[in-house]
Amino acid sequence: MNPGILRYALNTPKETAARMPEAEAFVDSNDEVLARQQRLRRKQVLLATAVYFTALIPLFHINQLGMLELTTDQKIFGVIAVMLTNAVFFLLIRSNQNLHFRDPSMTFAQVLVANAWSLTIAWVVAQPARPLAMMWYLLAFLFGFYTLKRWQFVALMAFALAGYAAVVMREYFAGSAAAFRVELLHWIILAVGLFWMSLIGGYVSMLRSRLVDQRRQLAEVAFVDPLTGVYNRRYLFDVLQREMARIRRDKVRTLSIAMLDLDAFKSVNDRYGHLMGDQLLRRVAEMLTDEMRDMDAVGRYGGEEFIIVMPDTSEAGAKVCMERVRSRVESDDSPFRGVRVPVTISIGIAEIRHNEQLIELVNRADKALLAAKAAGRNRVVLASNIEEKNLRVLPRTETVRD
Ligand code: GH3
Ligand code: MG
Ligand code: MG
Repeated sequence: MNPGILRYALNTPKETAARMPEAEAFVDSNDEVLARQQRLRRKQVLLATAVYFTALIPLFHINQLGMLELTTDQKIFGVIAVMLTNAVFFLLIRSNQNLHFRDPSMTFAQVLVANAWSLTIAWVVAQPARPLAMMWYLLAFLFGFYTLKRWQFVALMAFALAGYAAVVMREYFAGSAAAFRVELLHWIILAVGLFWMSLIGGYVSMLRSRLVDQRRQLAEVAFVDPLTGVYNRRYLFDVLQREMARIRRDKVRTLSIAMLDLDAFKSVNDRYGHLMGDQLLRRVAEMLTDEMRDMDAVGRYGGEEFIIVMPDTSEAGAKVCMERVRSRVESDDSPFRGVRVPVTISIGIAEIRHNEQLIELVNRADKALLAAKAAGRNRVVLASNIEEKNLRVLPRTETVRD
């Protein structure tokens, strides 16, 4: 099945993608999903930048009070450096470079950088105003609240506490016992705050990933035919509709569909039983998904009928492809419980016409399929062939061969 489409509907890849390894690029919607995610990520960076800016307000006041241990040059450099770190994250997303990372949202890295800046504040702000840094530590953690994993929280906490420990030790080595005790108290408050923040954050992100899994399972129920594992009819038609809308927008493209029906399947059921029939259906669905390209979508139309949507494929191209499928099914000799059940399929193909509606397209493929049955089964028929022949007004008895 089609991870691309599941991803479109769900926004979540992995498990499903592994189970259904095809059709990644089937609909543009993948690009749309990606664009939406990237937009969100850019927004997150912009939000972080706004937070950094508001941090400048108390810093500015602290500066007025003379508690900022920096020269003017250092202050200017600091503001520029903070903005630059955000600009780097922003540009990485803008240029899609972030997609090469394991976590394209770069949340961990952003929180880590924010932690580093919190530490810088703790370092350069004189003591009475220093708790400001603690607030920034907590704010930075808040950014990762929904997404960071527990180990990431632990790593960030270790980094933050080790950094602040350096501030504490600086007071110790400066020989000021009172200042040292105050900073030690700050360190303990920070440790308690970050501990709970990490614990609750880890729990929240665990709940979130559980929710994502449930959504994925729900989507499978909604899109997948339970017997064969290919798309169900409703979703296949959604896909087809979307694909046709795309062709209407972008007129140079084309699309073909194939309608397949197992030959004499009733007699398979009668002879070997319905359970064996089910297994055979599954096997055929497997061969179909196996034979088709990544961009094609296979779905079960009804009983023992399937539809395959082939974007950017002409009727002639679809025919080559379907002949391959037909002969693969015909020559398949995998036994079921030791019994080899021969099966063949008949296929009708139709390529979309200018301004054609979905119903008409499916109807033409269906007619081609009927023609394939009438012509003796186990064959592929093109809709355009029967249409041409109809133009020449065929006598009713003439069978159609492509
Ligand atoms: P034709 O070559 O003309 O298609 O012959 P056919 O026997 O395949 O055609 P028909 O439409 O008469 O029969 C379809 C059969 O497919 C009827 C039903 O027993 C079987 N069938 C439909 N859905 C399922 C299913 O989910 N499982 C099983 N085991 N059989 C199914
Ligand atoms: Mg049949
Ligand atoms: Mg049928």
